[in-house]
Amino acid sequence: MSSASLSPVLKQATPVVVDHASGSWIHGTDGRRYLDFTTGIGVTSTGHCHPDVVAAAQEQCAKIIHAQYTTVMHQPLLRLTEKLGEHLPDGIDSVFYANSGSEAVEAAVRLARMATRRQYIVTVQRGFHGRTVAAASLTSAGTKFSAGFGPLMAGVATTPFPDALRLGLSEDEAVDYALKEFDYLLGTRIHPDELAAVLIEPVLGDGGYLAVPPAYLAGLRERTRRHGALLVLDEVQAGVGRTGRFWGHQHTDGLVPDVIITAKGIASGFPISAIAAPEAIMAKAWPGSQGGTYGGNAVAAAAGVATLEVIEREGLVENARVRGAQLLDGLRAGLDGVDEICDIRGTGLMLAVEFGDPTANAGSPDSAEAVRLAGAVQRACIDEDLLTLTCGPIGAIVRIIPPLTVTADEV
Ligand code: PLP
Repeated sequence: MSSASLSPVLKQATPVVVDHASGSWIHGTDGRRYLDFTTGIGVTSTGHCHPDVVAAAQEQCAKIIHAQYTTVMHQPLLRLTEKLGEHLPDGIDSVFYANSGSEAVEAAVRLARMATRRQYIVTVQRGFHGRTVAAASLTSAGTKFSAGFGPLMAGVATTPFPDALRLGLSEDEAVDYALKEFDYLLGTRIHPDELAAVLIEPVLGDGGYLAVPPAYLAGLRERTRRHGALLVLDEVQAGVGRTGRFWGHQHTDGLVPDVIITAKGIASGFPISAIAAPEAIMAKAWPGSQGGTYGGNAVAAAAGVATLEVIEREGLVENARVRGAQLLDGLRAGLDGVDEICDIRGTGLMLAVEFGDPTANAGSPDSAEAVRLAGAVQRACIDEDLLTLTCGPIGAIVRIIPPLTVTADEV
């Protein structure tokens, strides 16, 4: 017998051990109550332990917990598909389920390659798509996600993000620059006929809550269509109301992607993820190529249905927009003139405060002091009973991601 302990890789950013949680609040075993503006990294969308989500999960547990979905179908998954369909763009009518964001990203990549019979997936710099080997291969938001366990998946290329702040350009100029770089990539390293898909988050999550300019997304849409490739949107963090629209890509007027990936906020903390695409595309996957033992778990799916119902009934997409604007205004007013801060930004309830010099905040030694500052601010927030996230490897950023249920007072 050994006395086991948690792996050293599970190093917590805060000293908090949760006893229980409710709404926006975590109650620690230290007897303190913390305002949770981390939401388990954007997961507990309806707040902790929303009574409707708890009831749906409890009820489902007593009916059936697990039925493997390629063997026996269960009702919660059918209901979740129906509910999700109410929010999907016209024509995106087929849904496949997995457990985590990374697995769904992998499913989307497999689908894109099978549907187009092409190999290359293009992602943007600072993008984050997960930690499985394939998802890490598609992630460039910091070397800690993929260094040291290569070789990574082949057939991936990265193109610059239209990052106006770091490029020192206007948004229009940054979009122009980034689209030219994309065209150059397709004219040099990759032949357009080899491009299977462009994979991008509508708001970069672990890349520091940078919103993708609508003109860039529209430019990628036009180019993928022209080259016979798919536009795959990773809505794992930005989707399901988080940005003040149901999908993050809805900030770009009229944009219809080919594949949408969702997870996190869709089931308030139960592990379930999905990809959605037109059935004609989805049908191109070989039987047996997609799926897994636990995919689309019945309890998680029931929690997902309850989550979507709560989001609709309580008007949480609108709440995310209004409370996000309130928080952004407050941060800007309160932090105005602080020399160490270079940017305060937000899309709905994805907000970020960035420290230091943005042109140096890309892992250069100059950014070490700014990274230290962001960490110090996060610790100071804990002293004030407020939990926030940081974004260290790529920039000195404090991220704020409250539940969609957050109230004006809590903000
Ligand atoms: N894609 C995005 C945009 C994410 O933010 C994340 C996780 O943070 C993932 C994919 C990976 O999801 P998971 O951690 O559930 O595998």
